[in-house]
Amino acid sequence: MTSFKTLDDLGDASGKRILVRVDLNVPMEEGKVSDDTRLRATLPTVTELADKGAIVLLLAHFGRPKGMPDPAMSLALVTKPYEQVLGRPVRFIGEWDKQAVATLAPGDVAILENTRFDPGEEKNDPAFAARLAALSDLYVNDAFSAAHRAHASTEGIAHLLPAYAGRAMEAELKALERALGDPERPVAAVVGGAKVSTKLEVLRHLVARVDHLIIGGGMANTFLAARGVDVGRSLAEHDLAGTANEILDAAERANCTVHLPYDVVVAKELAASPPSLRTCDVHEVAADEMILDIGPAAVEALADVLKTCRTLVWNGPLGAFETPPFDAATVALARTAAALTQEGSLVSVAGGGDTVAALNRAGAAEDFTFVSTAGGAFLEWMEGKELPGVAALNQGK
Ligand code: ADP
Ligand code: MG
Repeated sequence: MTSFKTLDDLGDASGKRILVRVDLNVPMEEGKVSDDTRLRATLPTVTELADKGAIVLLLAHFGRPKGMPDPAMSLALVTKPYEQVLGRPVRFIGEWDKQAVATLAPGDVAILENTRFDPGEEKNDPAFAARLAALSDLYVNDAFSAAHRAHASTEGIAHLLPAYAGRAMEAELKALERALGDPERPVAAVVGGAKVSTKLEVLRHLVARVDHLIIGGGMANTFLAARGVDVGRSLAEHDLAGTANEILDAAERANCTVHLPYDVVVAKELAASPPSLRTCDVHEVAADEMILDIGPAAVEALADVLKTCRTLVWNGPLGAFETPPFDAATVALARTAAALTQEGSLVSVAGGGDTVAALNRAGAAEDFTFVSTAGGAFLEWMEGKELPGVAALNQGK
């Protein structure tokens, strides 16, 4: 895929002004950052550049201000929390202005105002990109999670300055390349979650690339129904039967083995350990029951599949994991994948908002090779799309 430059190629950073596109779009609760994962992800790049004597100018968006200044979405709110995470002083600069930036000294770190306060950001307006580029000598993109958007601070600017991938971006791209770009075979993909309709392109892309496609979650219900199984009141998209069968045919042509569950966990209501809970064969689901997880026999068979594989890419939980015991299959298979990874027999890469939550709940996330928190960008990558922010790095000056 890639020929992007990294911080290793950047040369002498000392005294240079470097714009670093980061993800500071953190969730806030009552004026406090409720999850600082994204702030911490910037530390390797920011610390390295500041230690080398660069003037580090952080560019980011925050919320959806629609091209207008909005004090409730000012990055001034993130400056103090960021300073605490970084462990050194951070200046806030409220305008994209050369004179304001000129007051900074080598080794200083500053956060510039929310790029989405300017309408040119989301339009990828060349004039706004040029205004940003004029502030600096070099550009570093360390926000993979924003790379699926062709915005001025993620795409346009990379054509105007020498452009490099930051450390977090580099790690993400290398992990994704290992998982689907040029993976060790056999490769398995787990695709779960609620709906086939949100992941059609993911499925279409994967069947041509992986040796085993493991389908779970509500999506499995749609596939089972397409094959004529009565799934009762399960979440299923019956109107997508034709599409599901096309995907199964494409998989067969590509020699991709599709794994659907043959036993399932069902209940009459989605509640914690409801009285109607039972495990049954997929052909024995009653009209008033819902499939809420895949069954233990299926999980055991899937664990055996993973044992034969060298690479795993995972998006989507296998069941309604927020409500126990419908997290059982996801937790068990995640732990198997984690153990195989630790033994050195599997490269495991996972992503997706709910997937990350489920892997954390299973205590498995730490033991995966790489867990992406990039959300939309991760899914677009699973769809085989070229991400504009990454493509721009590949052709940057
Ligand atoms: P991700 O955020 O990792 O991409 P999704 O958003 O596609 O994952 O799917 C996660 C959701 O799918 C969860 O809320 C989970 O409860 C739901 N889900 C999984 N299996 C089922 C099922 N059998 N019935 C209903 N909902 C399910
Ligand atoms: Mg989700």
